[in-house]
Amino acid sequence: MISLYDVLEASNGQLFGEPAAQLFADFSFDSRRPQEAALYVALRTERGDGHQYIREAIENGATGVLCTMPPTFDTDHISIILVRDVQAALSQWAQYVLKKYETHVIAVSGTSGTAVTSEAIRRVLSARYSVHYRPPDYAGRLTLPHMLAKLTHEHDLVILELDATQVGELSALADAVLPKVGVITDIGSSRLDVFGSIEAIAHEYQSLVERIDPGGLVVLNYADPLMRALAEQSRAHVLTVAIDEFGADLIAYNVVASLNGTGFDLRHNQTRFVGRWTPLLGRGQLCCLLRSLAVGLAYDISLEDGLKAIKELMPLAGHMVPLSGLNGSVLIDDSDDAEPETTFALLEWLREVREDADRFLFVMGDMDGLGPMNMRGHRMVGQQAVGIVDMLITEGLDAAQAGRAALDAGMDPRRVEMTHSPSDVVARLAGGLTKGDVVIVKGGASARMERVVRALLAQPNNNASLSRRDGADEGISLAESASPSWVEIDLDALAHNVQRLKAFVGPAVTLMAVVKANAYGAGAISVARTALLNGANQLGVASVNEALELREAGIDAPILILSYAAPGAVRQAIRQNLALTLYDLDMARAYDRAAYEAGGRLRIHIKIDTGMGRLGILPELAMPFFRHLLTFKNFELEGIYTHFASADDDPDYTAEQIRLFNSVVKPLRASGFTFKYTHAANSAGTLASAANHFNLVRVGIAMHGVSPSPLMPVPEDFRPVMAWKTFVAQVKTLPPGHGVGYGHTYRTHGEERIAVLPVGYSDGFRRGPANWGTVLIHGQRAPLVGRVSMEKMAINVTDIPDVGIGDEVVLLGQQGDDRITAEEVAERLGTIPYEVLCAALSRSPRR
Ligand SMILES: *Cc1c(COP(=O)(O)O)cnc(C)c1O
Repeated sequence: MISLYDVLEASNGQLFGEPAAQLFADFSFDSRRPQEAALYVALRTERGDGHQYIREAIENGATGVLCTMPPTFDTDHISIILVRDVQAALSQWAQYVLKKYETHVIAVSGTSGTAVTSEAIRRVLSARYSVHYRPPDYAGRLTLPHMLAKLTHEHDLVILELDATQVGELSALADAVLPKVGVITDIGSSRLDVFGSIEAIAHEYQSLVERIDPGGLVVLNYADPLMRALAEQSRAHVLTVAIDEFGADLIAYNVVASLNGTGFDLRHNQTRFVGRWTPLLGRGQLCCLLRSLAVGLAYDISLEDGLKAIKELMPLAGHMVPLSGLNGSVLIDDSDDAEPETTFALLEWLREVREDADRFLFVMGDMDGLGPMNMRGHRMVGQQAVGIVDMLITEGLDAAQAGRAALDAGMDPRRVEMTHSPSDVVARLAGGLTKGDVVIVKGGASARMERVVRALLAQPNNNASLSRRDGADEGISLAESASPSWVEIDLDALAHNVQRLKAFVGPAVTLMAVVKANAYGAGAISVARTALLNGANQLGVASVNEALELREAGIDAPILILSYAAPGAVRQAIRQNLALTLYDLDMARAYDRAAYEAGGRLRIHIKIDTGMGRLGILPELAMPFFRHLLTFKNFELEGIYTHFASADDDPDYTAEQIRLFNSVVKPLRASGFTFKYTHAANSAGTLASAANHFNLVRVGIAMHGVSPSPLMPVPEDFRPVMAWKTFVAQVKTLPPGHGVGYGHTYRTHGEERIAVLPVGYSDGFRRGPANWGTVLIHGQRAPLVGRVSMEKMAINVTDIPDVGIGDEVVLLGQQGDDRITAEEVAERLGTIPYEVLCAALSRSPRR
């Protein structure tokens, strides 16, 4: 419980008006979430100012407000606390209540294993004490007040999970809460992005160890040399735990791993306990139990009592939870978090329980926070998986490195699948699962692999047992967002569109996914893989360089270079199995020589210019060209194609191009030339008529759910893949006649509310001759006013109530019931949707 007077006293705050509620059930950091009798905390973050949502918070049940500025509306029956700095007031309150209640603090910290360790400690100590433990929810500095909000004077002990997300954070937290016991769980790689080296991470934990008094206790893992070094820095009593390491104080040995639980014997000094059992899976979790027993010892709880207390501890959501999967399979949900160290341990465990399953299918998402180790960390996981798992399915760009490494280490390519969306993981697995299969799902928190778990459950509504991350803390994250605008790519939507395209052209027609220009900005590798998993068989790119990027990522589908390639690139084209486009005799000569020197045959597609007026041989010159081609010995003539000039708006001209193309292809066939692939259609041509398909279509923009032109719309059920978003940087009321932006091309008519957005033409948000026109905010359209500058612009929000700093603004995509499409923007800009996509996508970071 939070007492009004504790907060006032601790923070030196002022009551504004009459006090109303004097006790609060919890802090509320998010005005949108209903919370009865909460103290709403009006935080200012870079994404917004909580003061703007005080009214909403009160409507949602808050009976008190902690703020720096009083609300401007009537707040009778609400206790308003004014402080200078809300964050500081929260920390002061945390220290104050710990001191006031004289609660012993047990701090649990480490890069993994803290949740299970804390829960186990809670159980062991509850045998004798009143223990408070609330798992952390919010990130960063809100964690502490959140964990303490429900502490009362009846609690003897409180368990706090302290996270090291910034250099110096742990020492500051330890100084604030003065722990009597410090438990370091694991020192792994998942904070390398912040700390740079594993030693620096260990150093951060050292600052916690050093702050435990001589009368206190430090619990460390004996198996880790970094932890043994920490032991020497401790002034407090140290207990070490380990599995099979004689030298530790508390040792588990004779460990028996199975899919149903873990058996072990336990030794402490001369005392032994044999034949013990826990439903938790794996040595990592067993270690968590050992730590809890060690803490229990310090509080005079015997090992026998401690063992009894944890006997029934079931797996926590997202931590090695066995679940019933589709078709009688077993799912192991370990989706809460991942770092290389815990993933290796998981793989070792699989090796131990080998006998318990017919097949292991390992689904791996991106791991977070690896910094300089990112590539190597993911690769090492892939290497380790070889020979242990029967199938490795990765999701995401980083995890794909694990797939690559597994292939490099000789894993059968049919057993490795690299995907980029949950739906592709599920599609790849769901049908083939049988009884005897064990699917293990693991990934970092941001990979949100619980979505895969949910889709693979035998009973789809069994959601309660999953680790939940849906939106809980997204609105209120205090983390810095490095860029003021970002794009969101929905690869599930892309998968859907590609499936529809494939169904549309039918099995006899090969679908080539055109992923040039980084897949129109959406990310060539992930778009290519997703397309290939959903019906595309080939890829088209503009240059050899683009193709090499795909090959580098391990994509081995056939690739055609659609544009010019220098003869110098022929060697690489042969080596990487790329097909080149040929349309000129001199170039043919140069390619042929280069192919001869490279010692291989070059796959080529001949391009005919049937009216586009760009690359290609004119129809009347085609026959002599092909006759010459016969004299070259180092080509494999694979295809012939043309490109439509106006498939999106002139069906008659397109028909004429087809007629011309046929007038070239037919005589060639009659003269004995054969082509594996004959093709002409881009997206517009594909959508326009099956007569354009021949036996291959080259589709780009339609995969993105965007229509090539107003006259050639994609089918209704196609889904847009990309959204582009930003937020409000400032809102202000301008008097009548006030200019806005460079040149004052806009002047306010009356008094107007103007919101400034941190996006401009350098981000691909066009300035002129025409601009975007409108954007979406609060689900409504707001008009742009004044000129767009390099990285700023303004919108008029006079008619949209309550717009505040940090509110999300949609430049492209859906908000509420409205949507701004690339087609609509293109029309207003006087350009084509292609340019809208490429301009926005290529410059803004992904989220
Ligand atoms: C870019 C390109 C395509 C794909 O065009 P969309 O209109 O995006 O489908 C097809 N063929 C060639 C030769 C291209 O250059």
